[in-house]
Amino acid sequence: MVCLDLSLQKLDAAVLQGAGLVAIYVGMHTATRIALEALPRMRRLAPQAHLCVYGLYAPMNEALLRSLGVATVLGGEVEPALLSLCRRLQAAGISAGQSEPVVSLARIAFELPDRSGLPALSRYAHLVLPGGERRIAGFAEGSRGCKHLCRHCPVVPVYEGVFRVVPLETVLADIRQQVLEGAAHVSFGDPDFLNGPTHGLRLARALHRSFPDVSFDATIKIQHLIEHRDLLPELRASGCLFVTSAVEAVDDDILRRLDKNHTSRDFERAVALTREAGIALAPTFVAFTPWTTLEGYIALLERLASLRLVESVPPVQLAIRLLVPEGSWLLRLPGFREMLLAFDPALLGYPWIHRDPRVDRLQRSVQQEVARFEREAVPRRRAFAAIWRMAHEAAGRFTPALPEDLGEPIPHLSEPWYCCAEPTEQQLQSF
Ligand code: SF4
Repeated sequence: MVCLDLSLQKLDAAVLQGAGLVAIYVGMHTATRIALEALPRMRRLAPQAHLCVYGLYAPMNEALLRSLGVATVLGGEVEPALLSLCRRLQAAGISAGQSEPVVSLARIAFELPDRSGLPALSRYAHLVLPGGERRIAGFAEGSRGCKHLCRHCPVVPVYEGVFRVVPLETVLADIRQQVLEGAAHVSFGDPDFLNGPTHGLRLARALHRSFPDVSFDATIKIQHLIEHRDLLPELRASGCLFVTSAVEAVDDDILRRLDKNHTSRDFERAVALTREAGIALAPTFVAFTPWTTLEGYIALLERLASLRLVESVPPVQLAIRLLVPEGSWLLRLPGFREMLLAFDPALLGYPWIHRDPRVDRLQRSVQQEVARFEREAVPRRRAFAAIWRMAHEAAGRFTPALPEDLGEPIPHLSEPWYCCAEPTEQQLQSF
């Protein structure tokens, strides 16, 4: 078996030659876009191979993937199905059909991930500390799925409110093998680290006991930060440097439509609670939705400035446009479908046009500017000031001066994380 990470490695023709099975993992929107670009070439290089696409984004895009020659599509707890597919192909040779369920949420016996075929950990995103120090970061998964049902979330159409816990010993063994490879920080990839608060806390304690010098970050929703505020000091004491939280909006009406189960006031409360505990909060946003107004966008910027969170938000977060993939629970929102255009396979989603063209124009300009800021490594504070000016100009308003104190830089990963990211040019160049 050979493993290739197409976000870092070239699609190697020699590897595909004679392959009986090519299985592509699509855990994120970016990976799915890369897979769609790669599939035609894979089919040319390995015409005899059975093509399988698995991961969170596979079932949602099943029809599209099958139209590109993918024979097996798997989502949810995929490992038993992958094993069954391999055995079936070994026993019977070439097979066109799929016998395994497209989505399985059956409880599985988690195994230690085999990372031996992957590029060195040092080639992946690093932890960057406020002083500029960089540390190698590993990745671990303490749970999968989510017990919540936020309408825009890609986890929901597959897991539908179910989450599964990975045994503590398995997670620790996975961390151990990455620490041996140089990891000094662990980024937990759980959709929400406190879906099972007892498990999350046990994990943090065990990590700290075994590797006292290793820090970590996790994703925790605003509601959980408030409900489990008593746990925050211990998470910090166990090495938690920052928490990513999908705040999405500061407008209560938009938050209700997304079924986020938090309000704008809750966001402020979570900022205060994490600060009190000494944990940096890295909020993420869906800055542009069909319900966003220019005034609402300015209100988001004002809130970030007044909460001194400007250094905590990568500028790309201020450009993100709501993505509506196939199967999204947003499509169940009464009247929402009528706001959308036809499904666009290139976008892997349903495009929408804002009723106020100034909002779409601003979103495009912010997106273009953010791409330039990233290329030129413009500091977050300067990027924010430029977006602040653009937003006020778009609304025909005077641009007021920003407050002096916009907050301090926080620890972060060298690649901003956002699940609906478009692939970079470098990633697409692999093929
Ligand atoms: S956005 Fe977060 S909390 Fe909501 S369903 Fe998705 S993973 Fe769960």
